[in-house]
Amino acid sequence: MNFLEKYKKDFEEYDKMDRDFIDDDKIWSQLDKWKKPSKADVRMVLKKAEQKIRLDPEETAILIQNKDRETIEEMYALANKLKREVYGDRIVFFAPLYISDECANNCKYCGFRSSNHLIERKTLTMDELEQEVRIMINEGQKRTVLVYGESPKTDIDFMCETVKKVYSVKTENGEIRRANINCAPLAREELAKFKKVGIGTFQVFQETYHHETYRKMHPANTIKGHYRWRLYAQDRAQDAKIDDVAIGVLFGLYDWRFEVMGLLYHTIHLEEKYNGVGPHTISFPRITPAIGTPYSDHPEYAVSDEDFKKLVAILRLSVPYTGLICTARESDEVRREVIQLGVSQIDAGTRIGVGGYSKSMGNQLPDKEQFSLGDIRTLDDVVRETCSMDSIPSFCTACYRKGRTGENFMGYAKSKFVHNFCIPNAIFTFKEYLMDYASEETRKIGARVIEEHVARFKGEKVYDIIIKNLERLEKGERDLHI
Ligand code: SAM
Ligand code: SF4
Repeated sequence: MNFLEKYKKDFEEYDKMDRDFIDDDKIWSQLDKWKKPSKADVRMVLKKAEQKIRLDPEETAILIQNKDRETIEEMYALANKLKREVYGDRIVFFAPLYISDECANNCKYCGFRSSNHLIERKTLTMDELEQEVRIMINEGQKRTVLVYGESPKTDIDFMCETVKKVYSVKTENGEIRRANINCAPLAREELAKFKKVGIGTFQVFQETYHHETYRKMHPANTIKGHYRWRLYAQDRAQDAKIDDVAIGVLFGLYDWRFEVMGLLYHTIHLEEKYNGVGPHTISFPRITPAIGTPYSDHPEYAVSDEDFKKLVAILRLSVPYTGLICTARESDEVRREVIQLGVSQIDAGTRIGVGGYSKSMGNQLPDKEQFSLGDIRTLDDVVRETCSMDSIPSFCTACYRKGRTGENFMGYAKSKFVHNFCIPNAIFTFKEYLMDYASEETRKIGARVIEEHVARFKGEKVYDIIIKNLERLEKGERDLHI
């Protein structure tokens, strides 16, 4: 059965509409209208952003088109302030787990594409998967994102088995407590199966919101060639009661300014359709070189480091309550900078080859990867650096396990919530990390970070709970959260 027959019901619902919510001409006319915003225009937008209200497209267009150094610095300063106010000084850690690189699609930029004969294809067996998970747990990971190509070999039943397997692996002190998913768009029936096995966030990156570029990058005779099938992936997830969804763009395929507008329009679409529930996170990978993939060496719209910083700050200002993920595709220098501008989640200790954790124990697998990594430091190194940047590493997975996602989550006053729940939970999960996995050096600096954070709660109701939980952790209990 081909794709269109298999997904007929879900596919037609969106395909018969006259237009989707990305209007290329409108986006360009908004960007053109604000080709040269004045300092006053920019400052007016910043005034609204300061109130932590999601910006409208024209306001974001003003920030995108701003080339004035002085007000760009003001944008950076406000992005940093909003990040601290909304997310506290936490950085949430995760690591991807590549399950399969078999793929029927032929995306021009990706090392997994079907016409690339320079990589050996591999799908993990359940035993191999268990081995990968054990290594990740033993390095201190608690959160993962499972990554799959798009192939009949990795259909929904297989993917559900892998999720169950990941959750079933326990070691003396740890387990993976949250498995997010990065896979191809699915039909509602399939997504309902994912819901049942308890996935975390369901991520699909649109890659590019620009219709024409999308066509050029994804051959029409492949599943991925269908722009709208992908564009409405998060709608179908929401309709299947997965209310924790994520979006993203692969930067370098088209003009970054257009793509930022696309991400904003996507956010607005989801918020309007699903009672104010927008994407949980936004990812913004830049294309990095992949073996046997000439396009990835010279992407047509490569984004400079300077523009990359700007786009991260603009996203932080435009969608203050949406998490921003910066992956290890970026170098450690770039990551250090954009963390200050609004990034709330990073991966570390990452291996991206299928079976990479078992095979490489610390080094890249240059000949088998989908793309190359910029930051290849160990989890312990990145955790230690995070401490030295006055931030607290968090491995917390409490919200989705307590049902605080989607609409349920919207009721919480966010900054108070972060203070009373997220920071204490960061303290508990970081304490676990320090006791069970950290190097001596990290343990020392980490203990100081915990002390400082605990001290901030003195005199508050939650202080006693924090102290008690820290004692319980010392005595050997694990997985404490509020
Ligand atoms: N096959 C699924 C899909 O296409 O959505 C999920 C897995 S795919 C490996 C995950 C993401 O990797 C893609 O959405 C794309 O944004 C990103 N990617 C592909 N090629 C890349 C490259 N050369 N550099 C950086 N990221 C890349
Ligand atoms: Fe396959 Fe995804 Fe790579 Fe495209 S981006 S070739 S769909 S793995």
